[in-house]
Amino acid sequence: MSDCIFCKIAAGEIPAAKVYEDEHTLAFFDIFPSAENHTLVIPKAHHVNVLDIPPEVFSRVMNTVKKVVEIYKNKLGLENLQFIHNAGEHGQQDVFHLHVHILPRAEGDGANIKYPKRNPEWRDRFDTLLQKLK
Ligand code: 5GP
Ligand code: ZN
Repeated sequence: MSDCIFCKIAAGEIPAAKVYEDEHTLAFFDIFPSAENHTLVIPKAHHVNVLDIPPEVFSRVMNTVKKVVEIYKNKLGLENLQFIHNAGEHGQQDVFHLHVHILPRAEGDGANIKYPKRNPEWRDRFDTLLQKLK
């Protein structure tokens, strides 16, 4: 994809602070970090998000997520983190080349990345929703 920023990073056409790289995946720091060492893990090939990526390529991406987490655990003593994947416009995806955010977290880091607890009355719908999945 010639106009995709992450394809350009994967191809080395624009710079990025690379944490880890192998044949199929790349991990680099997010330029607008929400936490220290906020990292994006991408496949080098262009896939939009989890909805279109083949399972074996997604597995490689998640394997790299685990490798990066191990690096941060071993080198930085990381004990707390979140990882997030935004998919689709209404899933708050801004860059349409699949990426997994790794957000290292620490006491007093000032970040607050938490889903609100709401809609307890929707529990009544669970049985109906499960029926639709059969
Ligand atoms: P999304 O909202 O799509 O899940 O996240 C896209 C992320 O990519 C954002 O957190 C944004 O800061 C990051 N980003 C956008 N453009 C660049 C770039 O050129 N380089 C790097 N390193 N990160 C980028
Ligand atoms: Zn791309």
